[in-house]
Amino acid sequence: MAALTDALLSIVVPLYNEEENVALLTEKIHESLKGYQYQIVYVDDFSTDGTRRVIQQLKDPKVHLISLKKNYGQSLALAAGLDYAQGEFIITMDGDLQNDPADIPRLLEELEQGYDVVSGWRRDRQDRLLTRRVPSKAANWLIAKVTGVRIRDNGCTLKAYRRRVVKKARLYAEMHRFLVPMLSLSGSRV
Ligand code: UDP
Ligand code: MG
Repeated sequence: MAALTDALLSIVVPLYNEEENVALLTEKIHESLKGYQYQIVYVDDFSTDGTRRVIQQLKDPKVHLISLKKNYGQSLALAAGLDYAQGEFIITMDGDLQNDPADIPRLLEELEQGYDVVSGWRRDRQDRLLTRRVPSKAANWLIAKVTGVRIRDNGCTLKAYRRRVVKKARLYAEMHRFLVPMLSLSGSRV
């Protein structure tokens, strides 16, 4: 089993109109991953702002840009990035700075304990209570009931995977919320 420090990591991020965030995000990823070997896979989901231009201007050899030809939505953009990712360990996160790259090493440490999937949890979630947090709590409860797999926050995109389990997973629209329970049901250690 590959050790973390000599394995390649892929950081996969779907982006839709994140021109104001993507440069800072890139900087924070670099800061957080000193000493690791990694690639950053940005999937531009047909942004209508300058996201693509900003990424190209970075001229960053670690950044790989996938440009989708129409707006497919977060899940399919993520799937495109997972298909591309070459790393032994794969981290997915949002590009709007709601996930902090500084948490990536902690997720990786958990993977190293022998897990296949490590899921983030937005503990002090900064979102609207009624339209976002309440429905999300209900959804997490329902997913746990139906699958028997208790994940606190299925909607949290910050997750780390071993390559072999990600490649097994196929994502469909909005299905990323069920990904971890499905992987767990098929025998992965979560
Ligand atoms: N996103 C995307 N395509 C879309 C909408 C969003 O790739 O059509 C990206 C977005 O740029 C962000 C992530 O998916 O990196 C999560 O999006 P958002 O913050 O809107 O979702 P929320 O945090 O509300 O779940
Ligand atoms: Mg967000």
